[in-house]
Amino acid sequence: MSSAQTVAADSPRRYQLFIDGKWVDAESGKTFETPNPATGATLAEVAEADKADIDKAVIAARRAFEGKWSKMSARDRGRLLYKLSQLIEANAPELAALETADNGKPIRESQYVDIPQVVENFEYFAGYATKIEGETIPVPGQMFNYTLREPLGVCGQIIPWNFPLLMAAWKLAPALAAGNTIVLKPAEQTPVSAMELGKLIQEAGFPDGVVNIVPGYGETAGAALASHPGIDKIAFTGSTEVGKIVAREAAQNLTKVSLELGGNAAFVVLDDADIDMASMVGAWSTFHYQGQTCITANRHIVLRSVADAYVAALTERARNMTVGDPSTDQVSIGPIISEAQRDRAHEIVQQSIEMGAELVEGGTYEGLFYRPTVLVGVTPDMPAFQKEIFAPVAPITVVDTEEEALELTNRTEYGLASAVYTGDLARGLAFAEKVRAGMVHVNDAVCLDEAHVPFGGMGASGLGGRSGGEANLDEFTERRWISLQRTPVHYPY
Ligand code: NAP
Ligand code: MG
Repeated sequence: MSSAQTVAADSPRRYQLFIDGKWVDAESGKTFETPNPATGATLAEVAEADKADIDKAVIAARRAFEGKWSKMSARDRGRLLYKLSQLIEANAPELAALETADNGKPIRESQYVDIPQVVENFEYFAGYATKIEGETIPVPGQMFNYTLREPLGVCGQIIPWNFPLLMAAWKLAPALAAGNTIVLKPAEQTPVSAMELGKLIQEAGFPDGVVNIVPGYGETAGAALASHPGIDKIAFTGSTEVGKIVAREAAQNLTKVSLELGGNAAFVVLDDADIDMASMVGAWSTFHYQGQTCITANRHIVLRSVADAYVAALTERARNMTVGDPSTDQVSIGPIISEAQRDRAHEIVQQSIEMGAELVEGGTYEGLFYRPTVLVGVTPDMPAFQKEIFAPVAPITVVDTEEEALELTNRTEYGLASAVYTGDLARGLAFAEKVRAGMVHVNDAVCLDEAHVPFGGMGASGLGGRSGGEANLDEFTERRWISLQRTPVHYPY
């Protein structure tokens, strides 16, 4: 078994593309390297898929869809998914170590959040394979109606770098439970855990071509997949900017598309909140995985009477965080994924300070390691309020009333997640119901049960349905209506 440190120190791994159940080089022979952001060392050299490889993968997925996979019983599909969940669980320590080495996530998060949730997702949707049902629809007269609920066919799936294996699981598990076949493109920054998943998919015994994994760059492999006329659906998770490009490409072929995009979550602290607890939840919400999640608390909106106490408590927590090697248990802040992301975040902080925000903690970095940062006096015209920062930065805005807090919470084009902390649960629920977001949490700010609940956003945060729960199956099934007239119908012709 490899520990996080030994994985990081290993010599570079090599991965080929996983197409039609086989490991193959890219047609071009090209490869790319994925670094460990904590050390800069090359973690793996990976075959680089391009249009020719995407074509091969789509053909393999189509053949698998029309062949063995569609003839397999739902029970057997479910059993394969369950077997895969068990294989992932058996390999959890190594997968967690690889995830941390590839994307810099503190090992305790990979170990206790990412990988267990991957296992749970496959387990959860394994159970659904046998429970995807059509319905009968009663109407007046002699017509008998029923619906068939069928897989869409070949699904293209494109995922981001911040939860590499979990995003793969969110996309693969429901799509496979429903009987689709898949071409998955992991993010170029973090392909390693998806390639390891390919090995486990092979070991579990999925028929060749049911899952194809084609790492490569977004502009080449991703674009070739999104614009491919041979796919029935493209499911994308990533930035709002790229989501719009993917939607445009899919529109050329009228390919079904679902988009899970960025966010700008607010963490609202009402005047009756337990400030010690609120600051703990607020700190986790902003700082876990270096603030690089779509539901990161990107704005803290605090009522004036508790603002000083909240700022002091949050700042204290930020100051006490250990920044450093994410493969060790004690570290809570690892590296930002890339220099480009770090520079983008730092510019947002700097510009907001120039516009009048006050830096009370952090705001500095060494290499990719960004200090947990607290900004106060943040106003809605500042980039720290408006943009998804994607770094461990907590911008704080003080307001006088609950109404103002609500108005500011909703003053964003995004609508993914938000949270409110209060000592009065009824007040919290009333507030939550008025927030314009797909997910709102009272006295918490993270979703830890994504397999079961409908995860997703509104506005610039998404298009299409939800990940997790029964709603997720709608993303990967077609409902068809069949009818029968019990007695002959007479028309006036
Ligand atoms: P990104 O830059 O949009 O990339 C996402 C994926 O799209 C990557 O695999 C990328 O490939 C690919 N891509 C890039 N250009 C493309 C193109 N022209 N055509 C097709 N595919 C293309 O996002 P990211 O930086 O990886 O991830 C962070 C973003 O994801 C944040 O905005 C975050 O909020 C969002 N996110 C949302 C959710 C949610 O559930 N709503 C969950 C997690 C993350 P390469 O990177 O390999 O080039
Ligand atoms: Mg990497």
